[in-house]
Amino acid sequence: MTTTRFAPSPTGYIHIGNLRTALMNYLIARKAGGTFILRLDDTDGERSKPEYADAIQQDLEWLGLTWDRVERQSARLDRYHAAADTLRAQGRFYEGFETPVELDLKRKKQLNMGKPPVYDRAALALSQDEKARLRAERSPHWRFLLDQERITWTDGILGDISIDAASVSDPVLIRGDGQVLYTLASVVDDTEMGVTHVVRGSDHVTNTATQIQIMAALGHGHPAFAHHSLLTGPQGEALSKRLGVLSLRDLRAAGVEPMALLSLMARLGSSQPVEVRATLEELIEGFDISQFGAAPTKFDADDLKPLTGRVLAALPLAAVAGEIAALGVPGPLAAAFWDLVKGNIANRAELALWWAVLQGSAAAQVAEEDRDFVSQAFTLLPPHPYGDDAWATWTNAVKQATGRKGRGLFMPLRLAVTGRAQGPEMADLMPLMQAPPRL
Ligand code: GLU
Repeated sequence: MTTTRFAPSPTGYIHIGNLRTALMNYLIARKAGGTFILRLDDTDGERSKPEYADAIQQDLEWLGLTWDRVERQSARLDRYHAAADTLRAQGRFYEGFETPVELDLKRKKQLNMGKPPVYDRAALALSQDEKARLRAERSPHWRFLLDQERITWTDGILGDISIDAASVSDPVLIRGDGQVLYTLASVVDDTEMGVTHVVRGSDHVTNTATQIQIMAALGHGHPAFAHHSLLTGPQGEALSKRLGVLSLRDLRAAGVEPMALLSLMARLGSSQPVEVRATLEELIEGFDISQFGAAPTKFDADDLKPLTGRVLAALPLAAVAGEIAALGVPGPLAAAFWDLVKGNIANRAELALWWAVLQGSAAAQVAEEDRDFVSQAFTLLPPHPYGDDAWATWTNAVKQATGRKGRGLFMPLRLAVTGRAQGPEMADLMPLMQAPPRL
């Protein structure tokens, strides 16, 4: 049975980059009728915060990405230590005593000599006496002893991958302070939880190589892996610098609709065009991970604005009825109000602008040169309440009185009544006005 997981560390909010990971794993599980696990990678007790764990769940709920269960790594430490014991018993787990500063110095020396900064395994050469002496000084960290052979897999996005384990440092799995690190915890969870497909960012490719060996050492095969490309800004700049802070909370606060965001992210970087989908079911239906490419994917937050407009334009009244009622729109008027404005709003907050227009209280925009014209026109407004032909009646009267026609006639009136240059047909809007427009 297909099982995927989204495994954020609760050390911050979900941002646009890890949303992509969450969505792909979700879509794969749902398309296969499988299980989608939300796994909180919270073994870093200092940086992990319950408020971030809550926020991650709220953000996923906002998007509608439901999970079948939550797992917390902090509750599974005994499992990781059991796996560590297994590796130790096989001679695949060894103590290192170098401080971070010493390790850093080693790396710099290697780089200076033009060598790859791979850990030199100096710790393996320590005698029992030396180790005993060092242990009295500081607690060791623990590394997994890689088999120095090629590690290969067929990646669901990148294709055939082959990594020479000799070019990779033996990964530290337990830190000197006892903290179990992600690589070990993830391997244990993925195997014990029966994860069948792992989709994550291509910054994890080297981790994947080491994880494949650790899984094998623990007596398991490995899930299918797919590594999606990293997102960049519109000009190809690193996302972390400019947009890495673009959290889902920010997008939500900016009025982005979940289905606009999901429709974009389910296709961005693939050979399939971005299509606005109204429901997750449709997204699931149309999702195909093999269509994604390895090249960095450009993301432009500005694309979300028109997509949000299109999502809103397609919403039925029921989806916005609560907000419309909260504005004070009378029940019998709600459907006509929604039909009028739905194609003309960039986000839900703009409903209030149009309701103000219908109440005659929009902030009128009148250009200096139109001041007299508009004042005269407002004296010619038909009596309120307006009938179906109020706009035609009014503009005809204004035309006769002023001689203006075309855009010079209509645009100043639109700007005065609605405060905006764009919007619904004035002929449709006028009959819904609850009061005459005020200047
Ligand atoms: N906690 C890891 C991360 O956010 C999970 C990576 C993975 O999917 O294995 O990078």
